[in-house]
Amino acid sequence: MDILDGKATSKAIREEIAEEVEARKAKGLKTPHLAAVLIGTDGASKTYVGSKVRACERCGFKSTLIERPATTSERELLEIVHDLNQNDDVDGFIVQLPLPDHINEQRVIEAVKREKDVDGFHPENVGRMALNLPTFIPATPFGIIQLLERYNVPTEGKHAVVIGRSHIVGSPMSILLGRNAYPGNCTVTLTHSRTQNLAELTRAADIIVVALGKPEFLKADMVKEGAVVVDVGITRVDAPETEKGYVIKGDVAFDEVAPKCSYITPVPGGVGPMTIASLLKNTLIAAGDKKA
Ligand code: NAD
Repeated sequence: MDILDGKATSKAIREEIAEEVEARKAKGLKTPHLAAVLIGTDGASKTYVGSKVRACERCGFKSTLIERPATTSERELLEIVHDLNQNDDVDGFIVQLPLPDHINEQRVIEAVKREKDVDGFHPENVGRMALNLPTFIPATPFGIIQLLERYNVPTEGKHAVVIGRSHIVGSPMSILLGRNAYPGNCTVTLTHSRTQNLAELTRAADIIVVALGKPEFLKADMVKEGAVVVDVGITRVDAPETEKGYVIKGDVAFDEVAPKCSYITPVPGGVGPMTIASLLKNTLIAAGDKKA
């Protein structure tokens, strides 16, 4: 069994990006600039945005964090999006989800200029991804693809089962694994909460991507010998005995599943760090060959 080490791989990618930023400067090209919009004070969202901004700084990117209270109206947020669309110095930006209930998320996603949509959530970019055209691939699935690629995990002709069909993880993951590309060329089964006999499907799978947000959902008896298991789940589970008062759990019962796998991602240190590296990569792509 080999660990797909997202922490080390993400570090390697971020170092490559930092070198590229230096090379860009030498060529007179623009320093990539990522902006992030955070509405409200949700703890997890603040942590995620904070790590994205710090990662930008470490790679030599410019970053801007726009923080507004949870009472911000949809109109005000759309104005911020409009300003970022117009701002030539900003190459790419993200609006951290989830948004407060009174804001229509889809309307905001569709307001982001396609060329700056480094989250890859705009419907046009999702369509381009499905057609295998150049675009921004959503950060988490992009991170998984890069992890599989860097470890040369065989995917062609394999049966992949994706658990969860969210727009940010499961659904794009199923599209990417089915594309005529490497990693890809899998026969893909996309499963969700209405799927029947899930364990039968996972037992027949060569590759399982688990993204449903239920701690330790995938057990050893659901996995065949030699399978590749990618655990996307991140759930805070109360653990009063620990200093933080909680532990982070993935969607896979790691201790019992890992011995059966050819490759597996740990939580933490698997998919999570790859997500940030992918966002930086998308921002670098967005900066393109713009002059300083
Ligand atoms: P979501 O809540 O939007 O979607 C969950 C999906 O799981 C749904 O499509 C649902 O149909 C499916 N599902 C629920 N119960 C099921 C069952 N019993 N069998 C099969 N499918 C079932 O989730 P999401 O936003 O995709 O996030 C999933 C997990 O991944 C969460 O723990 C989240 O925190 C984590 N996540 C991690 C990263 C990262 O960077 N590592 C990024 C995004 C999300």
